[in-house]
Amino acid sequence: MAETPNCPQCDMDNTYFDGTVNVCPDCSHEWVNGADQDAEVDNIPRDSNGAELMDGDSVTVIKDLKVKGSSMVIKRGTKVKSIRLTDVPEEVDCKIDGSSIVLKTCFLKK
Ligand SMILES: [Zn+2]
Repeated sequence: MAETPNCPQCDMDNTYFDGTVNVCPDCSHEWVNGADQDAEVDNIPRDSNGAELMDGDSVTVIKDLKVKGSSMVIKRGTKVKSIRLTDVPEEVDCKIDGSSIVLKTCFLKK
């Protein structure tokens, strides 16, 4: 049986490997050994079709989106110019009607 490391969150050693991730039954934490570097390899923001997104791209919103914390709705078909990538591959910054808004890339299409 392969050794799993102690839980990085609570340091208990009841951890086990479930085939994909290490699991800690004590605090329900799941993590992957040394996956940090692997994960960064494909930290590429992609639109709903899997096309790579870049700073300054223009995209179209493919779904009505409610903006968190406001009554604003971004309508499906809205064109968004000059997106800006963020630290999170699934999110991009953009400006719509002068407001800075974070959009999920899965709702965008180049
Ligand atoms: Zn734990």
